[in-house]
Amino acid sequence: MKHNYHAIALDKIDISEADRLYTFYTLEKGLIRVPARSVRRGKAKLAMQVEDFVLSHITIAQNYGRGTLAGAVAEDYFVSLHENLEALECVDNVRTIFLSIMDENECDEHVFVLFIAYLEGMNKLAQKQNFKKYNTDLKWFTHAFLIKLFCLQGYDFHTHKCSICRGKINEIKNGFSVSSGGILCATCSCDEYFCYIDPDTLKALRVIKSNNLKALSKVIIHEDVHKQLQNIVYNIEKWVMR
Ligand SMILES: [Zn+2]
Repeated sequence: MKHNYHAIALDKIDISEADRLYTFYTLEKGLIRVPARSVRRGKAKLAMQVEDFVLSHITIAQNYGRGTLAGAVAEDYFVSLHENLEALECVDNVRTIFLSIMDENECDEHVFVLFIAYLEGMNKLAQKQNFKKYNTDLKWFTHAFLIKLFCLQGYDFHTHKCSICRGKINEIKNGFSVSSGGILCATCSCDEYFCYIDPDTLKALRVIKSNNLKALSKVIIHEDVHKQLQNIVYNIEKWVMR
């Protein structure tokens, strides 16, 4: 029996002289791992279709266990993303986090759609800036994606109410504490595991939460907001990967 899936290729390891074990995030079954026979031999066309971070239609022959990868047709190679080292670094980091928080065979259409929007956005941003040195927007877009992913995976937080006293969050210097559940008002920012957030960072978080990812590729943030967001993402990352 053969089954078809919409899949994002995420990882591969060599498992024998000619075979590989691939990891895909699929629309239909979530995270799956499947072996491909003889894929490392000579001119195996299959390998090209399932390079890391390529969107493909894959076919799995379901004989026993995980089955075997029987075919694949790439739908989008995201060429510019693959040619931009800084973009690849961002996506590589996303992969590490993604693989550590996702369980096999748990599908979520929203996660799949978000991941594709991320790869498409990164591809466009990479294309635009292959001639420039600065890469804040690649990182901003990656942080925005991760915050959205964490929200979908259950780590959601308010941006208008304090997580401790439930009071209104004003446009002053506030705090963020992952163990207290998110944003803290200035008065409650005394937990030892919190980081400060400026009014502009608070605005950025609200913008991330109220817009779809595609729209966020056009947002420009300044360096201080970037650093604070990086800190917030790092803190949530440690929390969800613990
Ligand atoms: Zn408070």
